[in-house]
Amino acid sequence: MTTRRNFLKGLGAGLALYATGSATPARAASARVVVVGGGTAGVTVAKYLRLADPSIAVTLLEPNPRYTTCYMSNEVLVGDRTLEAITFGYQGLEAHGVTVVPEAAVAIDPVGRSVTTDSGARLSFDRCVVAPGVDFRWETIDGYSEAVAQSIPHAWKAGPQTELLRNQLAAMEDGGTVVIAAPPNPYRCPPAPYERASLIASYLQRHKPHSKVVILDPKSSFAKQALFEQAWSELYGYGGANALIEWHSADSAAGVVAVDPASRTVRTEFGDSITAQVLNLIPAQQAGKVAWLADLVDATGWCPVDRQTFESTRHPAIHVIGDACIADALPKSGYAANSEAKVCASAIVALLNGATPPSPSFSNGCYSIVAPDYAISIVGIYRLSDDGELIEPVAGSGGTSPLTATPEQRKFEAEFAYGWYHNFTRDLFY
Ligand SMILES: Cc1cc2nc3c(=O)[nH]c(=O)nc-3n(C[C@H](O)[C@H](O)[C@H](O)COP(=O)(O)OP(=O)(O)OC[C@H]3O[C@@H](n4cnc5c(N)ncnc54)[C@H](O)[C@@H]3O)c2cc1C
Repeated sequence: MTTRRNFLKGLGAGLALYATGSATPARAASARVVVVGGGTAGVTVAKYLRLADPSIAVTLLEPNPRYTTCYMSNEVLVGDRTLEAITFGYQGLEAHGVTVVPEAAVAIDPVGRSVTTDSGARLSFDRCVVAPGVDFRWETIDGYSEAVAQSIPHAWKAGPQTELLRNQLAAMEDGGTVVIAAPPNPYRCPPAPYERASLIASYLQRHKPHSKVVILDPKSSFAKQALFEQAWSELYGYGGANALIEWHSADSAAGVVAVDPASRTVRTEFGDSITAQVLNLIPAQQAGKVAWLADLVDATGWCPVDRQTFESTRHPAIHVIGDACIADALPKSGYAANSEAKVCASAIVALLNGATPPSPSFSNGCYSIVAPDYAISIVGIYRLSDDGELIEPVAGSGGTSPLTATPEQRKFEAEFAYGWYHNFTRDLFY
């Protein structure tokens, strides 16, 4: 990886180049694309731009030296996988000729077409791709904040937060209550709170059988619900007196609106108070901060884009992909972010070469592991609507695992989940 020191040294020598800042509407000798954010969407678009057109100079801005995937982080919480096993460096990107700069973007100038980094460097671009993921709407839970999250984790960005929640689960005495406050729609990875509850129940069953996990939800339904509830009944006594999992939905007004961090007590919309031994608060979400700084966000809290190219509808030559953008029926998932990034890369290559971007299709797939040797899945295929305004499901495509699957099939799905993870992270980081 380019170190901060080397980057600044290189920048000094090439200051004139970086600081020209003029718009370059036609194909330059070597077109420059700056990608903001080295997560799932950012690394995919950077790599695939280089694969599609190696003459494009691609710079990836990412302040963290390594990326920890949220996918499989629920397994880390319960000791079934290590944090190291889900953490990746950027050497593979550099092998594709991507310049990886360990800095954060702090401003994007859509007119001068440049990105300013936290060291004050300015990088000019012909096209910029913004992929900052999500930020949290702390104000939606009274008493919660980034500072409080250092003791009451969200664990919705993997890394130290995952470790914190894992350590709290390990330290909890048998007989304790784990409370998960699920977020309102739309949010990163719709099935993940329920996968998390499942794996925590599996852990409690093995290590602290007198404990339970309680989901407090502002929604009245959730992704793959019938499959989850079936698995919870089979495995965790769901619905019975000694259930290891309880789900309280919006119908009993169970969204969390306030927390008292000292006593780990939450208050729900109806005014009920619940005290937890381990508390996992997942707040409402919105586009990552830099998207706001760059004026890419609309009243929804997310970034509107042209669905064919992912170019912002607010500022030309800036594209937004991944969780931060509005992609209609496509969920905010890593799989979808990867699919959007590939569509965006091919659109940028076409635009830089004066060609028409191809008409895209998209896919999403998501495995949820609900116990060792037991997984369920959902898959969807998507296309542009005839008027090009929306991303919509392809009729008759996709679906979920059958409710009638045998234990052997559930076990196969768990193996497929591990295979998917292996292949997916190789597509991203190698
Ligand atoms: C518990 C959990 C389980 C999940 N499981 C799955 C799953 O099984 N399958 C699946 O498909 N998806 C899953 N997801 C969802 C998936 O992790 C996200 O949808 C995906 O990571 C979104 O990719 P992204 O690139 O938009 O954001 P991210 O992957 O979060 O990447 C954003 C990057 O941008 C960087 N960044 C932010 N601001 C700046 C800035 N100003 N300058 C430079 N860089 C910046 C950040 O450091 C980060 O590296 C899961 C999520 C969670 C929370």
